[in-house]
Amino acid sequence: MKSNTLLIGGRWRRADAAEAIPVEDPSTGEVIADIAAATAADVDGAVEAARAALDSDWGALAAADRGRILANIGQAVLAHIDDLAVLEARDVGKPLSQARADVIALARYLEFYGGAADKVHGETIPFKAGYTVYTLWEPHGVTGHIIPWNYPMQIIGRSVGAALAMGNAAVLKPAEQASLTALAFARIAMEAGLPAGALNVVTGLGSVAGAALAGHAGVGHVSFTGSTGVGAMIQRAAAANAVPVTLELGGKSPQIVFDDADLEKAQPFLVNAGIQNAGQTCSAGSRILVQTGVYRQLLSALKDRYQALRVGPAMADLDVGPLISARQKAMVEGYLELGRADGLVAAEGRIVEDAPAGGHYVRPTLFADVPADHRLAQEEIFGPAVVVTPFETEDEAVALANGTEYGLVAGVWTADGGRQMRLARRLRAGQVFLNNYGAAGGVELPFGGVGKSGHGREKGFEALYGFSTLKTVAAYHG
Ligand code: ADP
Ligand code: MG
Repeated sequence: MKSNTLLIGGRWRRADAAEAIPVEDPSTGEVIADIAAATAADVDGAVEAARAALDSDWGALAAADRGRILANIGQAVLAHIDDLAVLEARDVGKPLSQARADVIALARYLEFYGGAADKVHGETIPFKAGYTVYTLWEPHGVTGHIIPWNYPMQIIGRSVGAALAMGNAAVLKPAEQASLTALAFARIAMEAGLPAGALNVVTGLGSVAGAALAGHAGVGHVSFTGSTGVGAMIQRAAAANAVPVTLELGGKSPQIVFDDADLEKAQPFLVNAGIQNAGQTCSAGSRILVQTGVYRQLLSALKDRYQALRVGPAMADLDVGPLISARQKAMVEGYLELGRADGLVAAEGRIVEDAPAGGHYVRPTLFADVPADHRLAQEEIFGPAVVVTPFETEDEAVALANGTEYGLVAGVWTADGGRQMRLARRLRAGQVFLNNYGAAGGVELPFGGVGKSGHGREKGFEALYGFSTLKTVAAYHG
């Protein structure tokens, strides 16, 4: 695969700009490829190609046929699982088995949205005598997809998959730090029968290619996953065209453990939710709130687990891989330093001795007794750093859990059924997990945030409504 080209209208093309962007392997710091830096003119070309696809082959397909193509792409993705997993592990730095799980999730999204393509039905509305009124769910047209580097394949599945299912034509702008699987996926999709122009890929910088896509007058919907700051810029850019956006932004999600919880069952979740993908996960469970009756006992068990964590290159497939970049490492180290200076460190994992010196490794760190207003307990760190904070009452737990500007997901561990139901309602979040965390990724489950975690829902059937617009037809026939 040549990585330094763009996919526009079914053709692999060089970018308008001469300069390419080097692609780094975060496990070693070595440059392993380069990608094209799309210009605004390239983005124009991609939007035009998407529009042309809507006006020809792709736009003419029946919903069931679109769905079958998506299902076929899902099968083709699975047939390439080994290559895709290695590519993602090297590009993002995620441990190989986590990369493999992402390939499976991508295929599962395509299966789910492929099956759903012909199942989004409008309604007929009882109205005045002489009328027949019905509704049609129609595609927005060209959809823009600006995605981050942490879970490229999963986010392509949920966002591009749902958009294509509804008959949109997509322009995908992957993150400059990790674009390789987006390009590989596009090639697989074309080979599996996706018509030219239904999916276009413009790699490049956020400030150039991303900005051009978000504010493009030919784009009918923008779906963005990334930082809260850039999300606001995307929304402003789309506002100029009065175009809807889906924003899936940051989080500081709580995992709440009550005295009556099954602590043994909870422990692996409490740890994994904080260190998965080296904590570079918007829905990371980065705050563990523990009721005082079990606080010391649980903290001691968590410390043991953190001390056993091993960090190393993606291909070694340990608990934690490197962070995406030197910049990300510096940001995360800044937070770790803050906690060390305040004497909050409870336990740290260890970086294996043979980890390459050029890789961006940090020690996963558990901070204990962290006051709720501490920066470590309020700000999204996007690294393997988790705070533990005690609480006494249910009301206090809710106040702590809801006490950040984010609201993406929340986990609750308790055997009390009434309390489960009360918390599910009182927690300010787009997803609440009772006696689990993350629901194993559940592609069927609508996902998204409130507050600074964003708005709109991706995943599940719900996403299909977001990727389409409702038309009401009122026929007067007397
Ligand atoms: P991070 O800071 O974790 O890299 P970002 O929110 O900056 O996350 O990046 C998410 C995606 O948004 C990437 O594809 C990036 O290129 C893109 N992006 C960054 N800045 C802009 C911008 N000004 N306009 C549009 N897209 C952008
Ligand atoms: Mg990379």
